[in-house]
Amino acid sequence: MKIVIASHNEGKIREINSILSGEKIEIIPQKVLGVSDIVEDGVTFIENALKKARHATKHTNLPAIADDSGLVVAALNGSPGIYSARYAGQNVSFHQNIIKLLENMKEVPENQRQAFFYCCLVFLRSTEDPCPIICEGIWHGKILSEPRGIHGFGYDPIFLDEERGCSAAELSPEVKNEISHRGQALKQFLKKFREAF
Ligand code: IMP
Repeated sequence: MKIVIASHNEGKIREINSILSGEKIEIIPQKVLGVSDIVEDGVTFIENALKKARHATKHTNLPAIADDSGLVVAALNGSPGIYSARYAGQNVSFHQNIIKLLENMKEVPENQRQAFFYCCLVFLRSTEDPCPIICEGIWHGKILSEPRGIHGFGYDPIFLDEERGCSAAELSPEVKNEISHRGQALKQFLKKFREAF
């Protein structure tokens, strides 16, 4: 089966590809099929994920997977949340978002730096699909006071996985995929997908 991935984020596409690589699925990034970005104007991850998947399937006539994800920081009342990709403004780098987050967290003490990554993943067979496959994953950790590590993307360098004592960017891609919010959602997806097909 050919499935379009409704994302332009290379880091996400890489992780989704590597977890689904053993399946009889051909994953096609939407960029290859000329699908543009949409305005993510939902107020929840699920709304934005459905919007992205519907847009991609409408323009390609292929089933679509979309992941809407982000970092939720308790001390910042849940920010950056659904605005994670554009926390420091439209079209900013991951580094600029990190700088803004660290600035906003600079007075927050060690014991109040809890955060989690959240991922909502949806699979739509078509624009009219009334029963999308919906999966989610949560990865709990803490916000570091400075970036560490070279792997991953986004906020990985400042997200501490307490159990392993490593930032998400210090974990190998394989270990991150095993435990991350996206890894968890994709594992659920595979189970439901195999049941459905
Ligand atoms: P989306 O593409 O609108 O879902 O935005 C996702 C944003 O959340 C990314 O641009 C990152 O800033 C952040 N994010 C989501 N997942 C991860 C992850 O696994 N590591 C680091 N940052 C992430």
